[in-house]
Amino acid sequence: MNDNFSCDAVVIGAGTVGLAVARKLAMAGLETMILEKNEHFGMETSARNSEVIHAGIYYPQDSLKARFCVRGRDLLYAFCQSHGVGHKKLGKLIVTTHADQAGKLAGIAKAAADNGVGDLQPLSKAQIATLEPDLFAVEGLFSPSTGIIDSHQYMLALLGGAETHGASLARKAEVTAIAKMPDGYALQVANDGGSFVLNARIVINSAGLWAQHIAGLIDALPRRFVPPLRLAKGNYAILSMKSPFQHLVYPVPEPGGLGVHLTLDLGGQARFGPNVQWLENNDPAAIDYAVPPSVPQQFAPLITKYWPAIREEMLTPGYSGVRPKTAGPENPNQDFQIDGPAVHGLPGMVNLFAIESPGLTSSLAIADHVAGLVS
Ligand SMILES: Cc1cc2nc3c(=O)[nH]c(=O)nc-3n(C[C@H](O)[C@H](O)[C@H](O)COP(=O)(O)OP(=O)(O)OC[C@H]3O[C@@H](n4cnc5c(N)ncnc54)[C@H](O)[C@@H]3O)c2cc1C
Repeated sequence: MNDNFSCDAVVIGAGTVGLAVARKLAMAGLETMILEKNEHFGMETSARNSEVIHAGIYYPQDSLKARFCVRGRDLLYAFCQSHGVGHKKLGKLIVTTHADQAGKLAGIAKAAADNGVGDLQPLSKAQIATLEPDLFAVEGLFSPSTGIIDSHQYMLALLGGAETHGASLARKAEVTAIAKMPDGYALQVANDGGSFVLNARIVINSAGLWAQHIAGLIDALPRRFVPPLRLAKGNYAILSMKSPFQHLVYPVPEPGGLGVHLTLDLGGQARFGPNVQWLENNDPAAIDYAVPPSVPQQFAPLITKYWPAIREEMLTPGYSGVRPKTAGPENPNQDFQIDGPAVHGLPGMVNLFAIESPGLTSSLAIADHVAGLVS
C-alpha cells in the first residue's frame, strides 16, 4: 500500500529553474516539496551548460527570453553578491572577422537596445587588440554586463534558501502519474524501490528535458497542451592550455546558432562551443552525452577565423548538453513556453517547456513569474 503525504506545492525537477521556483514558493509561505528523480539535484542540463550570465542581447523583442534574461541577469548578480555565490562580470566581445559582416554589429546593438540592453560599446580594431592581443577582429562590440557564474554553488544556495523557508527535497523520487483531484492533484512517486502518493494544490512541472513526458502524465491535461519535443545537442571542446583570453569571445551569430564561441570558467579554463547538433531520436532517455572525437577537427577551422593561432591539437573533446526545444531548425526564434492555468484551465498547474538558454540567467525572473501564475 502507498504512503500518503500532502503539502501545498510540489515542484517536479531540481535543476536551476525548479530550485529557484521552489525557493520562491517557500518564501511565499507555501509548504513546498521538490521531487527529483536523480540521486542529487542539478545533474542534467543545469550541470551541462556554459555558466554564462547573459546580458540579453540577441533575443526577439518582447519575447519571454528577452524579458526574463534582462530582469533575471540583474536579480542573479544581486543574488550572487548577497549569497556569496562565485561569479565574475568579465564582459564579452562580439567580433566581426570579415569586411562583409560590416552591418551586423549595428543590427546587434539595435536589437540589444530594443531589449533594454543599452550598455554595448563599439570597439575599433585597435581597442580590441589592446583588450585581447591574440584576437583577430575587424571591429566589435563590448558587453560589460555579461559574466560567468559557478552554477553548482548557485543551485546549492537556492536549495538552502528553499529549505530555510521550510521546503524539502526528495531525491530518487520520480513522478510516474498525476491525477486531478477535487482540491488539487495526487502525484504517484516511485522512490528508491518503493512508492508514495503526494497530494498538493499546486504542481510545477520544471522537469527540463522531461517536461513533455511529465505533462503527458497529467490525466486531466488535454494533449493539445503538450508541445512536441525536439532535442538539439551542444558539444564543447576544451582548450588544453592556459587561455590567452580574459573575456568571453563571440563571433557574430550565423544562421542557426551563435557560432563556435569561447567561454571561460571561474578558474580561467577556456572552452569552445556549444555547436548545434539536432538529434534524430527525441527521447531524453536515449540521449548519448558522449562528445564525438571529431569535435576538435570540426571546431578548429571556425575558431581560426578569430584566433589564428589555434591548432586542432590544442583542443580536446569536452562535455555536452542538450537543449529541450519545441520545434526544429525551421523555427530559430522559439521562445520559452510557460503554460499556467490561463492557458490550459487547470488550477494550480504550471508546465515549463523549452527552458533552454538563457534559462540559467533567467531563473530568478522565471521563478517570480511562475509564482505569480499560481498565487
Ligand atoms: C549546451 C547548453 C548551454 C547552455 N548555456 C547556458 C548559459 O551559458 N547561460 C544560461 O543562462 N543558460 C544556459 N543554458 C540553459 C540552462 O542550462 C537551462 O535553461 C537550465 O539549466 C534549465 O534548468 P531546469 O531546471 O529547467 O532543467 P534541468 O536542469 O534539466 O532540471 C530538470 C530536472 O527534472 C528532473 N526530472 C525529470 N523528470 C522527472 C521526474 N519524472 N520526476 C522527478 N524529477 C524529474 C531531472 O532529473 C532534472 O534534474 C544552456 C543549455 C544548454 C543545453
